[in-house]
Amino acid sequence: MKDKKFDTKAVHFSTIRESEVASKVQPIYQTTAYSFKDLDDIEDYFRGNKPYLYSRVDNPNNDDLATGVARLEGAPSGAATSSGLSAILCAVLAVAQSGDHIVACDDLYGGTYHLFASELKTFGIEVTFVPFADQQSIQEAIQPNTKILYSESITNPLLRVEDIHGIAELAKKNKVISMIDNTFATPYLLQPYVQGVNVVIHSATKYIAGHSDVTAGIIAGDQDIVQKAKEKMANLGCNLGPFDAWLAARGLKTLSVRMERQVKNAAWLAEVLKEHPAIKKVYYPESASMQGNGAIVTAELSDDADIEGFFRHLSWVKIVATLAGVETSVSYPLGTSHRAMPDELIKRLGITKHVVRISVGIEDKGDITEVFQNALNHAL
Ligand code: PLP
Repeated sequence: MKDKKFDTKAVHFSTIRESEVASKVQPIYQTTAYSFKDLDDIEDYFRGNKPYLYSRVDNPNNDDLATGVARLEGAPSGAATSSGLSAILCAVLAVAQSGDHIVACDDLYGGTYHLFASELKTFGIEVTFVPFADQQSIQEAIQPNTKILYSESITNPLLRVEDIHGIAELAKKNKVISMIDNTFATPYLLQPYVQGVNVVIHSATKYIAGHSDVTAGIIAGDQDIVQKAKEKMANLGCNLGPFDAWLAARGLKTLSVRMERQVKNAAWLAEVLKEHPAIKKVYYPESASMQGNGAIVTAELSDDADIEGFFRHLSWVKIVATLAGVETSVSYPLGTSHRAMPDELIKRLGITKHVVRISVGIEDKGDITEVFQNALNHAL
């Protein structure tokens, strides 16, 4: 470099050869693009002999995250996207196009409901929402142009456990694709792909990343569908940034340790809440999986309870519009995640103004109990 001028030396100073660096953990490939030796090297990429061209299309950190989750799901292929919602969009567009139809469960996460009810219309895709607890109503909603059956393994926020195998079988019988959002269960509890579902979706923003510092999504499933979903992701610009992929992949390593503690704490809290006089109903699954029933507890306070008093006395527990971090937090579905749902559906599902969704963290269960007992005492 000594024959180069100052301005050039300031830019081209690196002497590190990547092939000689054996870092213990995956480095962050914080790069927008990959370099090539010559024009034939570029052609090699398009022949499928080189993995990376441009980070909107592909990045080693995204591949790591996607592969890691796909393996835990028992699926052959995975893709990482910029959010849970973009994962849903890309997966849907990989299978359905203008003129097609989807049958979805009616107790979906509010953001997915809005995507399906409003945004997909602009792509010319219609969605019929039916209660998935009733297989007959799913069958009756299937039309000749139906392409997808869509549901959540454990629904948000009322925690209905889906009959995953039943949905997979019904989809096969009708020659349509089954998709399950496995965000609440994670592969630690349930593996929909192994039960016959074609595509599994995650808001990796939640338990996969686990520390409330990343927005990310995962599509795991049949190779051909995931490949098409990756094309949609690249063409629509729904890719995940390398640093966020790296953070989520780091979180994935502790998924089982976190889930084990969070699930135990949640099961404990569900029992404690049932005993409190300010509680009308506790929603907590009973036999979701061998590993437990999840780390979310939804509770309906009694009709005369002071819900605002409850929220004002949560001490160190934060009120948020998300879930699943290592910190216990509380959300108010009617005011946030399910705000955009039609009133009559909200009413029918039972998401009343007294429903709160508790995301149980890894803290000491005695401390968690104390906070909620105190907040509920203030609601009486
Ligand atoms: N699916 C479920 C079950 C969710 O709870 C959420 C968000 O809360 C999403 C999908 C959307 O995920 P994201 O916020 O990462 O786009």
